[in-house]
Amino acid sequence: MTGPTALEIDLDAIASNWRQLDAMHPGETGAAVKADAYGLGANQVAPALLNAGCQNFFVAHLSEALPLRPLLPGAMLAVLHGILPGEASEFVARDLTPVLTSLGDVERWRKEVTRHGRKLPAILHADTGMSRLGMTPTEMAALENDPALLDGIDVKILLSHLISSEIPEAETNFAQLQRFNALRPKFPAAKTSLANSAGMFLGLSFQADLARPGAALYGLNPTPDAANPMRPAVRLTARILQIRTIEPGETVGYNATWTAPRRSHIATIAAGYADGYLRSLSNRATARFDGHPVPLVGRVSMDLATFDVTGHPDAQPGDSLELIGPGHDADAIAAEAGTNGYEILTSLGRRYHRHYIGGQQTP
Ligand SMILES: *Cc1c(COP(=O)(O)O)cnc(C)c1O
Repeated sequence: MTGPTALEIDLDAIASNWRQLDAMHPGETGAAVKADAYGLGANQVAPALLNAGCQNFFVAHLSEALPLRPLLPGAMLAVLHGILPGEASEFVARDLTPVLTSLGDVERWRKEVTRHGRKLPAILHADTGMSRLGMTPTEMAALENDPALLDGIDVKILLSHLISSEIPEAETNFAQLQRFNALRPKFPAAKTSLANSAGMFLGLSFQADLARPGAALYGLNPTPDAANPMRPAVRLTARILQIRTIEPGETVGYNATWTAPRRSHIATIAAGYADGYLRSLSNRATARFDGHPVPLVGRVSMDLATFDVTGHPDAQPGDSLELIGPGHDADAIAAEAGTNGYEILTSLGRRYHRHYIGGQQTP
């Protein structure tokens, strides 16, 4: 390992997670690779998933789709946020599939159909409870009452998004499924897409024709009430820069939020909140030294964090602490930080020395 920090991303594990999810149901399995594949590097992750057999990819922004398009020949690449005014022609030019999220999107795509004089594919997002993006029930009714609004638009997929899929007993899951199923007969030629990662574990009726997992591909637990069925894909380690001995009563870090109760050995590493090692981990996180938990003490600062390694007299500068790994994964760090694993992954910093295992190596 060179450099003070190393972020290992296992593309084989990500591909294996995709195959595991795909084997769960008879339908197709896509992949959410938005936000740079949840911070893990879409340029590496997306081709690895394509190799595994994935044919349907989802990003949030048009700008995320552009660099990925040449890496995903033949695959559908869909833009979840729809079409901003002025963007429609770029979708056509780059063979991108817009997810139509409002009547405004529908109108922009219909105008593009007219300009090109041919049918254009699209995904129709019906809001069944998120109140965020997606056609409202009123907008869906408008489409039903005036089918000409969709003239020339080839609705390939009817899509909706679950609000509490990670809570299997949430009543909203079934309410959303019912609303979604009520819309299906209106688009008999369209495939259906409802489940994100956790939604896939709610049963076959949620999986629909095309599932859209993201988190589970990257090793986050899609079944928070049970053991994680996915393979870990991320390992973050940091080398100890210094170890110092402090006396009882001495404090560590900004604002002296930790006071040594005894003579203590404090190991400093080069990861801080500028690296997505969140400040809310202050006095709460643990890392692993040789597989043993060591507590973070004091405030996480911008570039540094400090751990109490008093119980490990063999620890030396240059040794590694594992900040995220199989024994202490992104979900566990998230619990310590008071957030979710998604935020931990998407916050992973740019200063970490990134190293990809398996898949398609790109320099
Ligand atoms: C992000 C996203 C997904 C993937 O969700 P995960 O919980 O990460 O599996 C699926 N669908 C939509 C619309 C999304 O925004």
